[in-house]
Amino acid sequence: MIQRERIADNVFAFQSDLYVQVTAGVVVGPEWAVAIDTLAFPEETLAIRDFVEYELKVPIRYVINTHYHADHAWGTCFFPGALVISHSLCRNFLELKSVPALESARSQNVSLRQSKIILPHLTFSEGTLSLKVGKKNLTMLPLPGHTEDGIGVFIEEDRVLFSGDVFMPLPYIVDGDIDQMIDTYKRVANMSLENIVQGHGDVVLRGEIELAIDDHLQYLSTIQKHVRRSSRRKFPRDLLETLDVESCGKSRVLLGGLAEELHQRNMVSLYTNLYGEIPAASEPEDDIYY
Ligand SMILES: [Zn+2]
Repeated sequence: MIQRERIADNVFAFQSDLYVQVTAGVVVGPEWAVAIDTLAFPEETLAIRDFVEYELKVPIRYVINTHYHADHAWGTCFFPGALVISHSLCRNFLELKSVPALESARSQNVSLRQSKIILPHLTFSEGTLSLKVGKKNLTMLPLPGHTEDGIGVFIEEDRVLFSGDVFMPLPYIVDGDIDQMIDTYKRVANMSLENIVQGHGDVVLRGEIELAIDDHLQYLSTIQKHVRRSSRRKFPRDLLETLDVESCGKSRVLLGGLAEELHQRNMVSLYTNLYGEIPAASEPEDDIYY
């Protein structure tokens, strides 16, 4: 149900088999551990908890939320004794958006019955926040772009970055900001990292990081060009629909085959942000892009 990978001494990453390859992580100290995000379904988050508490025999004392999205943050409630840390905006979004969203999701999904939204106890909005786990220094730093509240967790000794969703195989900006994302990529490129544990998908290894960042920057500038070009058409959406994810340099098989859909949403959202209206189509559908 979940894949476990040892990234460095006492550092683990988990990937869901059930929901768009979403990831979470754990850093283990001598007496307690830190969870970085949770997974989408309760049973997956409970599998992480069982591994840490029964196999490694330490409790999870801290949970870090990289951002407020359901697939990363809704499992926090399965660590009832933990202190929860996030960006201050994450706390706001959880309170204002996630509490009502869970309420309505619960009526359609039985497995969410035991879930509840936990508002982080400790937040920061500028600079960084550090936590010492055994001999390791964990530094939390803002990484906006996918969302405004995005943070990453950098493990100094191993040069590993848990990036949250600002890194995934296809950048996703519908709830974020393309300029912030570009800025985040440029900062991360200078961090001399060994690994990036992305919010979705496989771990990016040292030799692949530079290429992955170049590739993402190229994708973002391509969709910006397409969106500007489409704005000169009477029906911009018609043109955008012909510009598929492959023509923008990314494979359609990424993210369990969701890449094309996410790519189209990216362009519609970029257009809407730039021009203040949804791109018109000659045959409008009832799409809601969230
Ligand atoms: Zn997300």
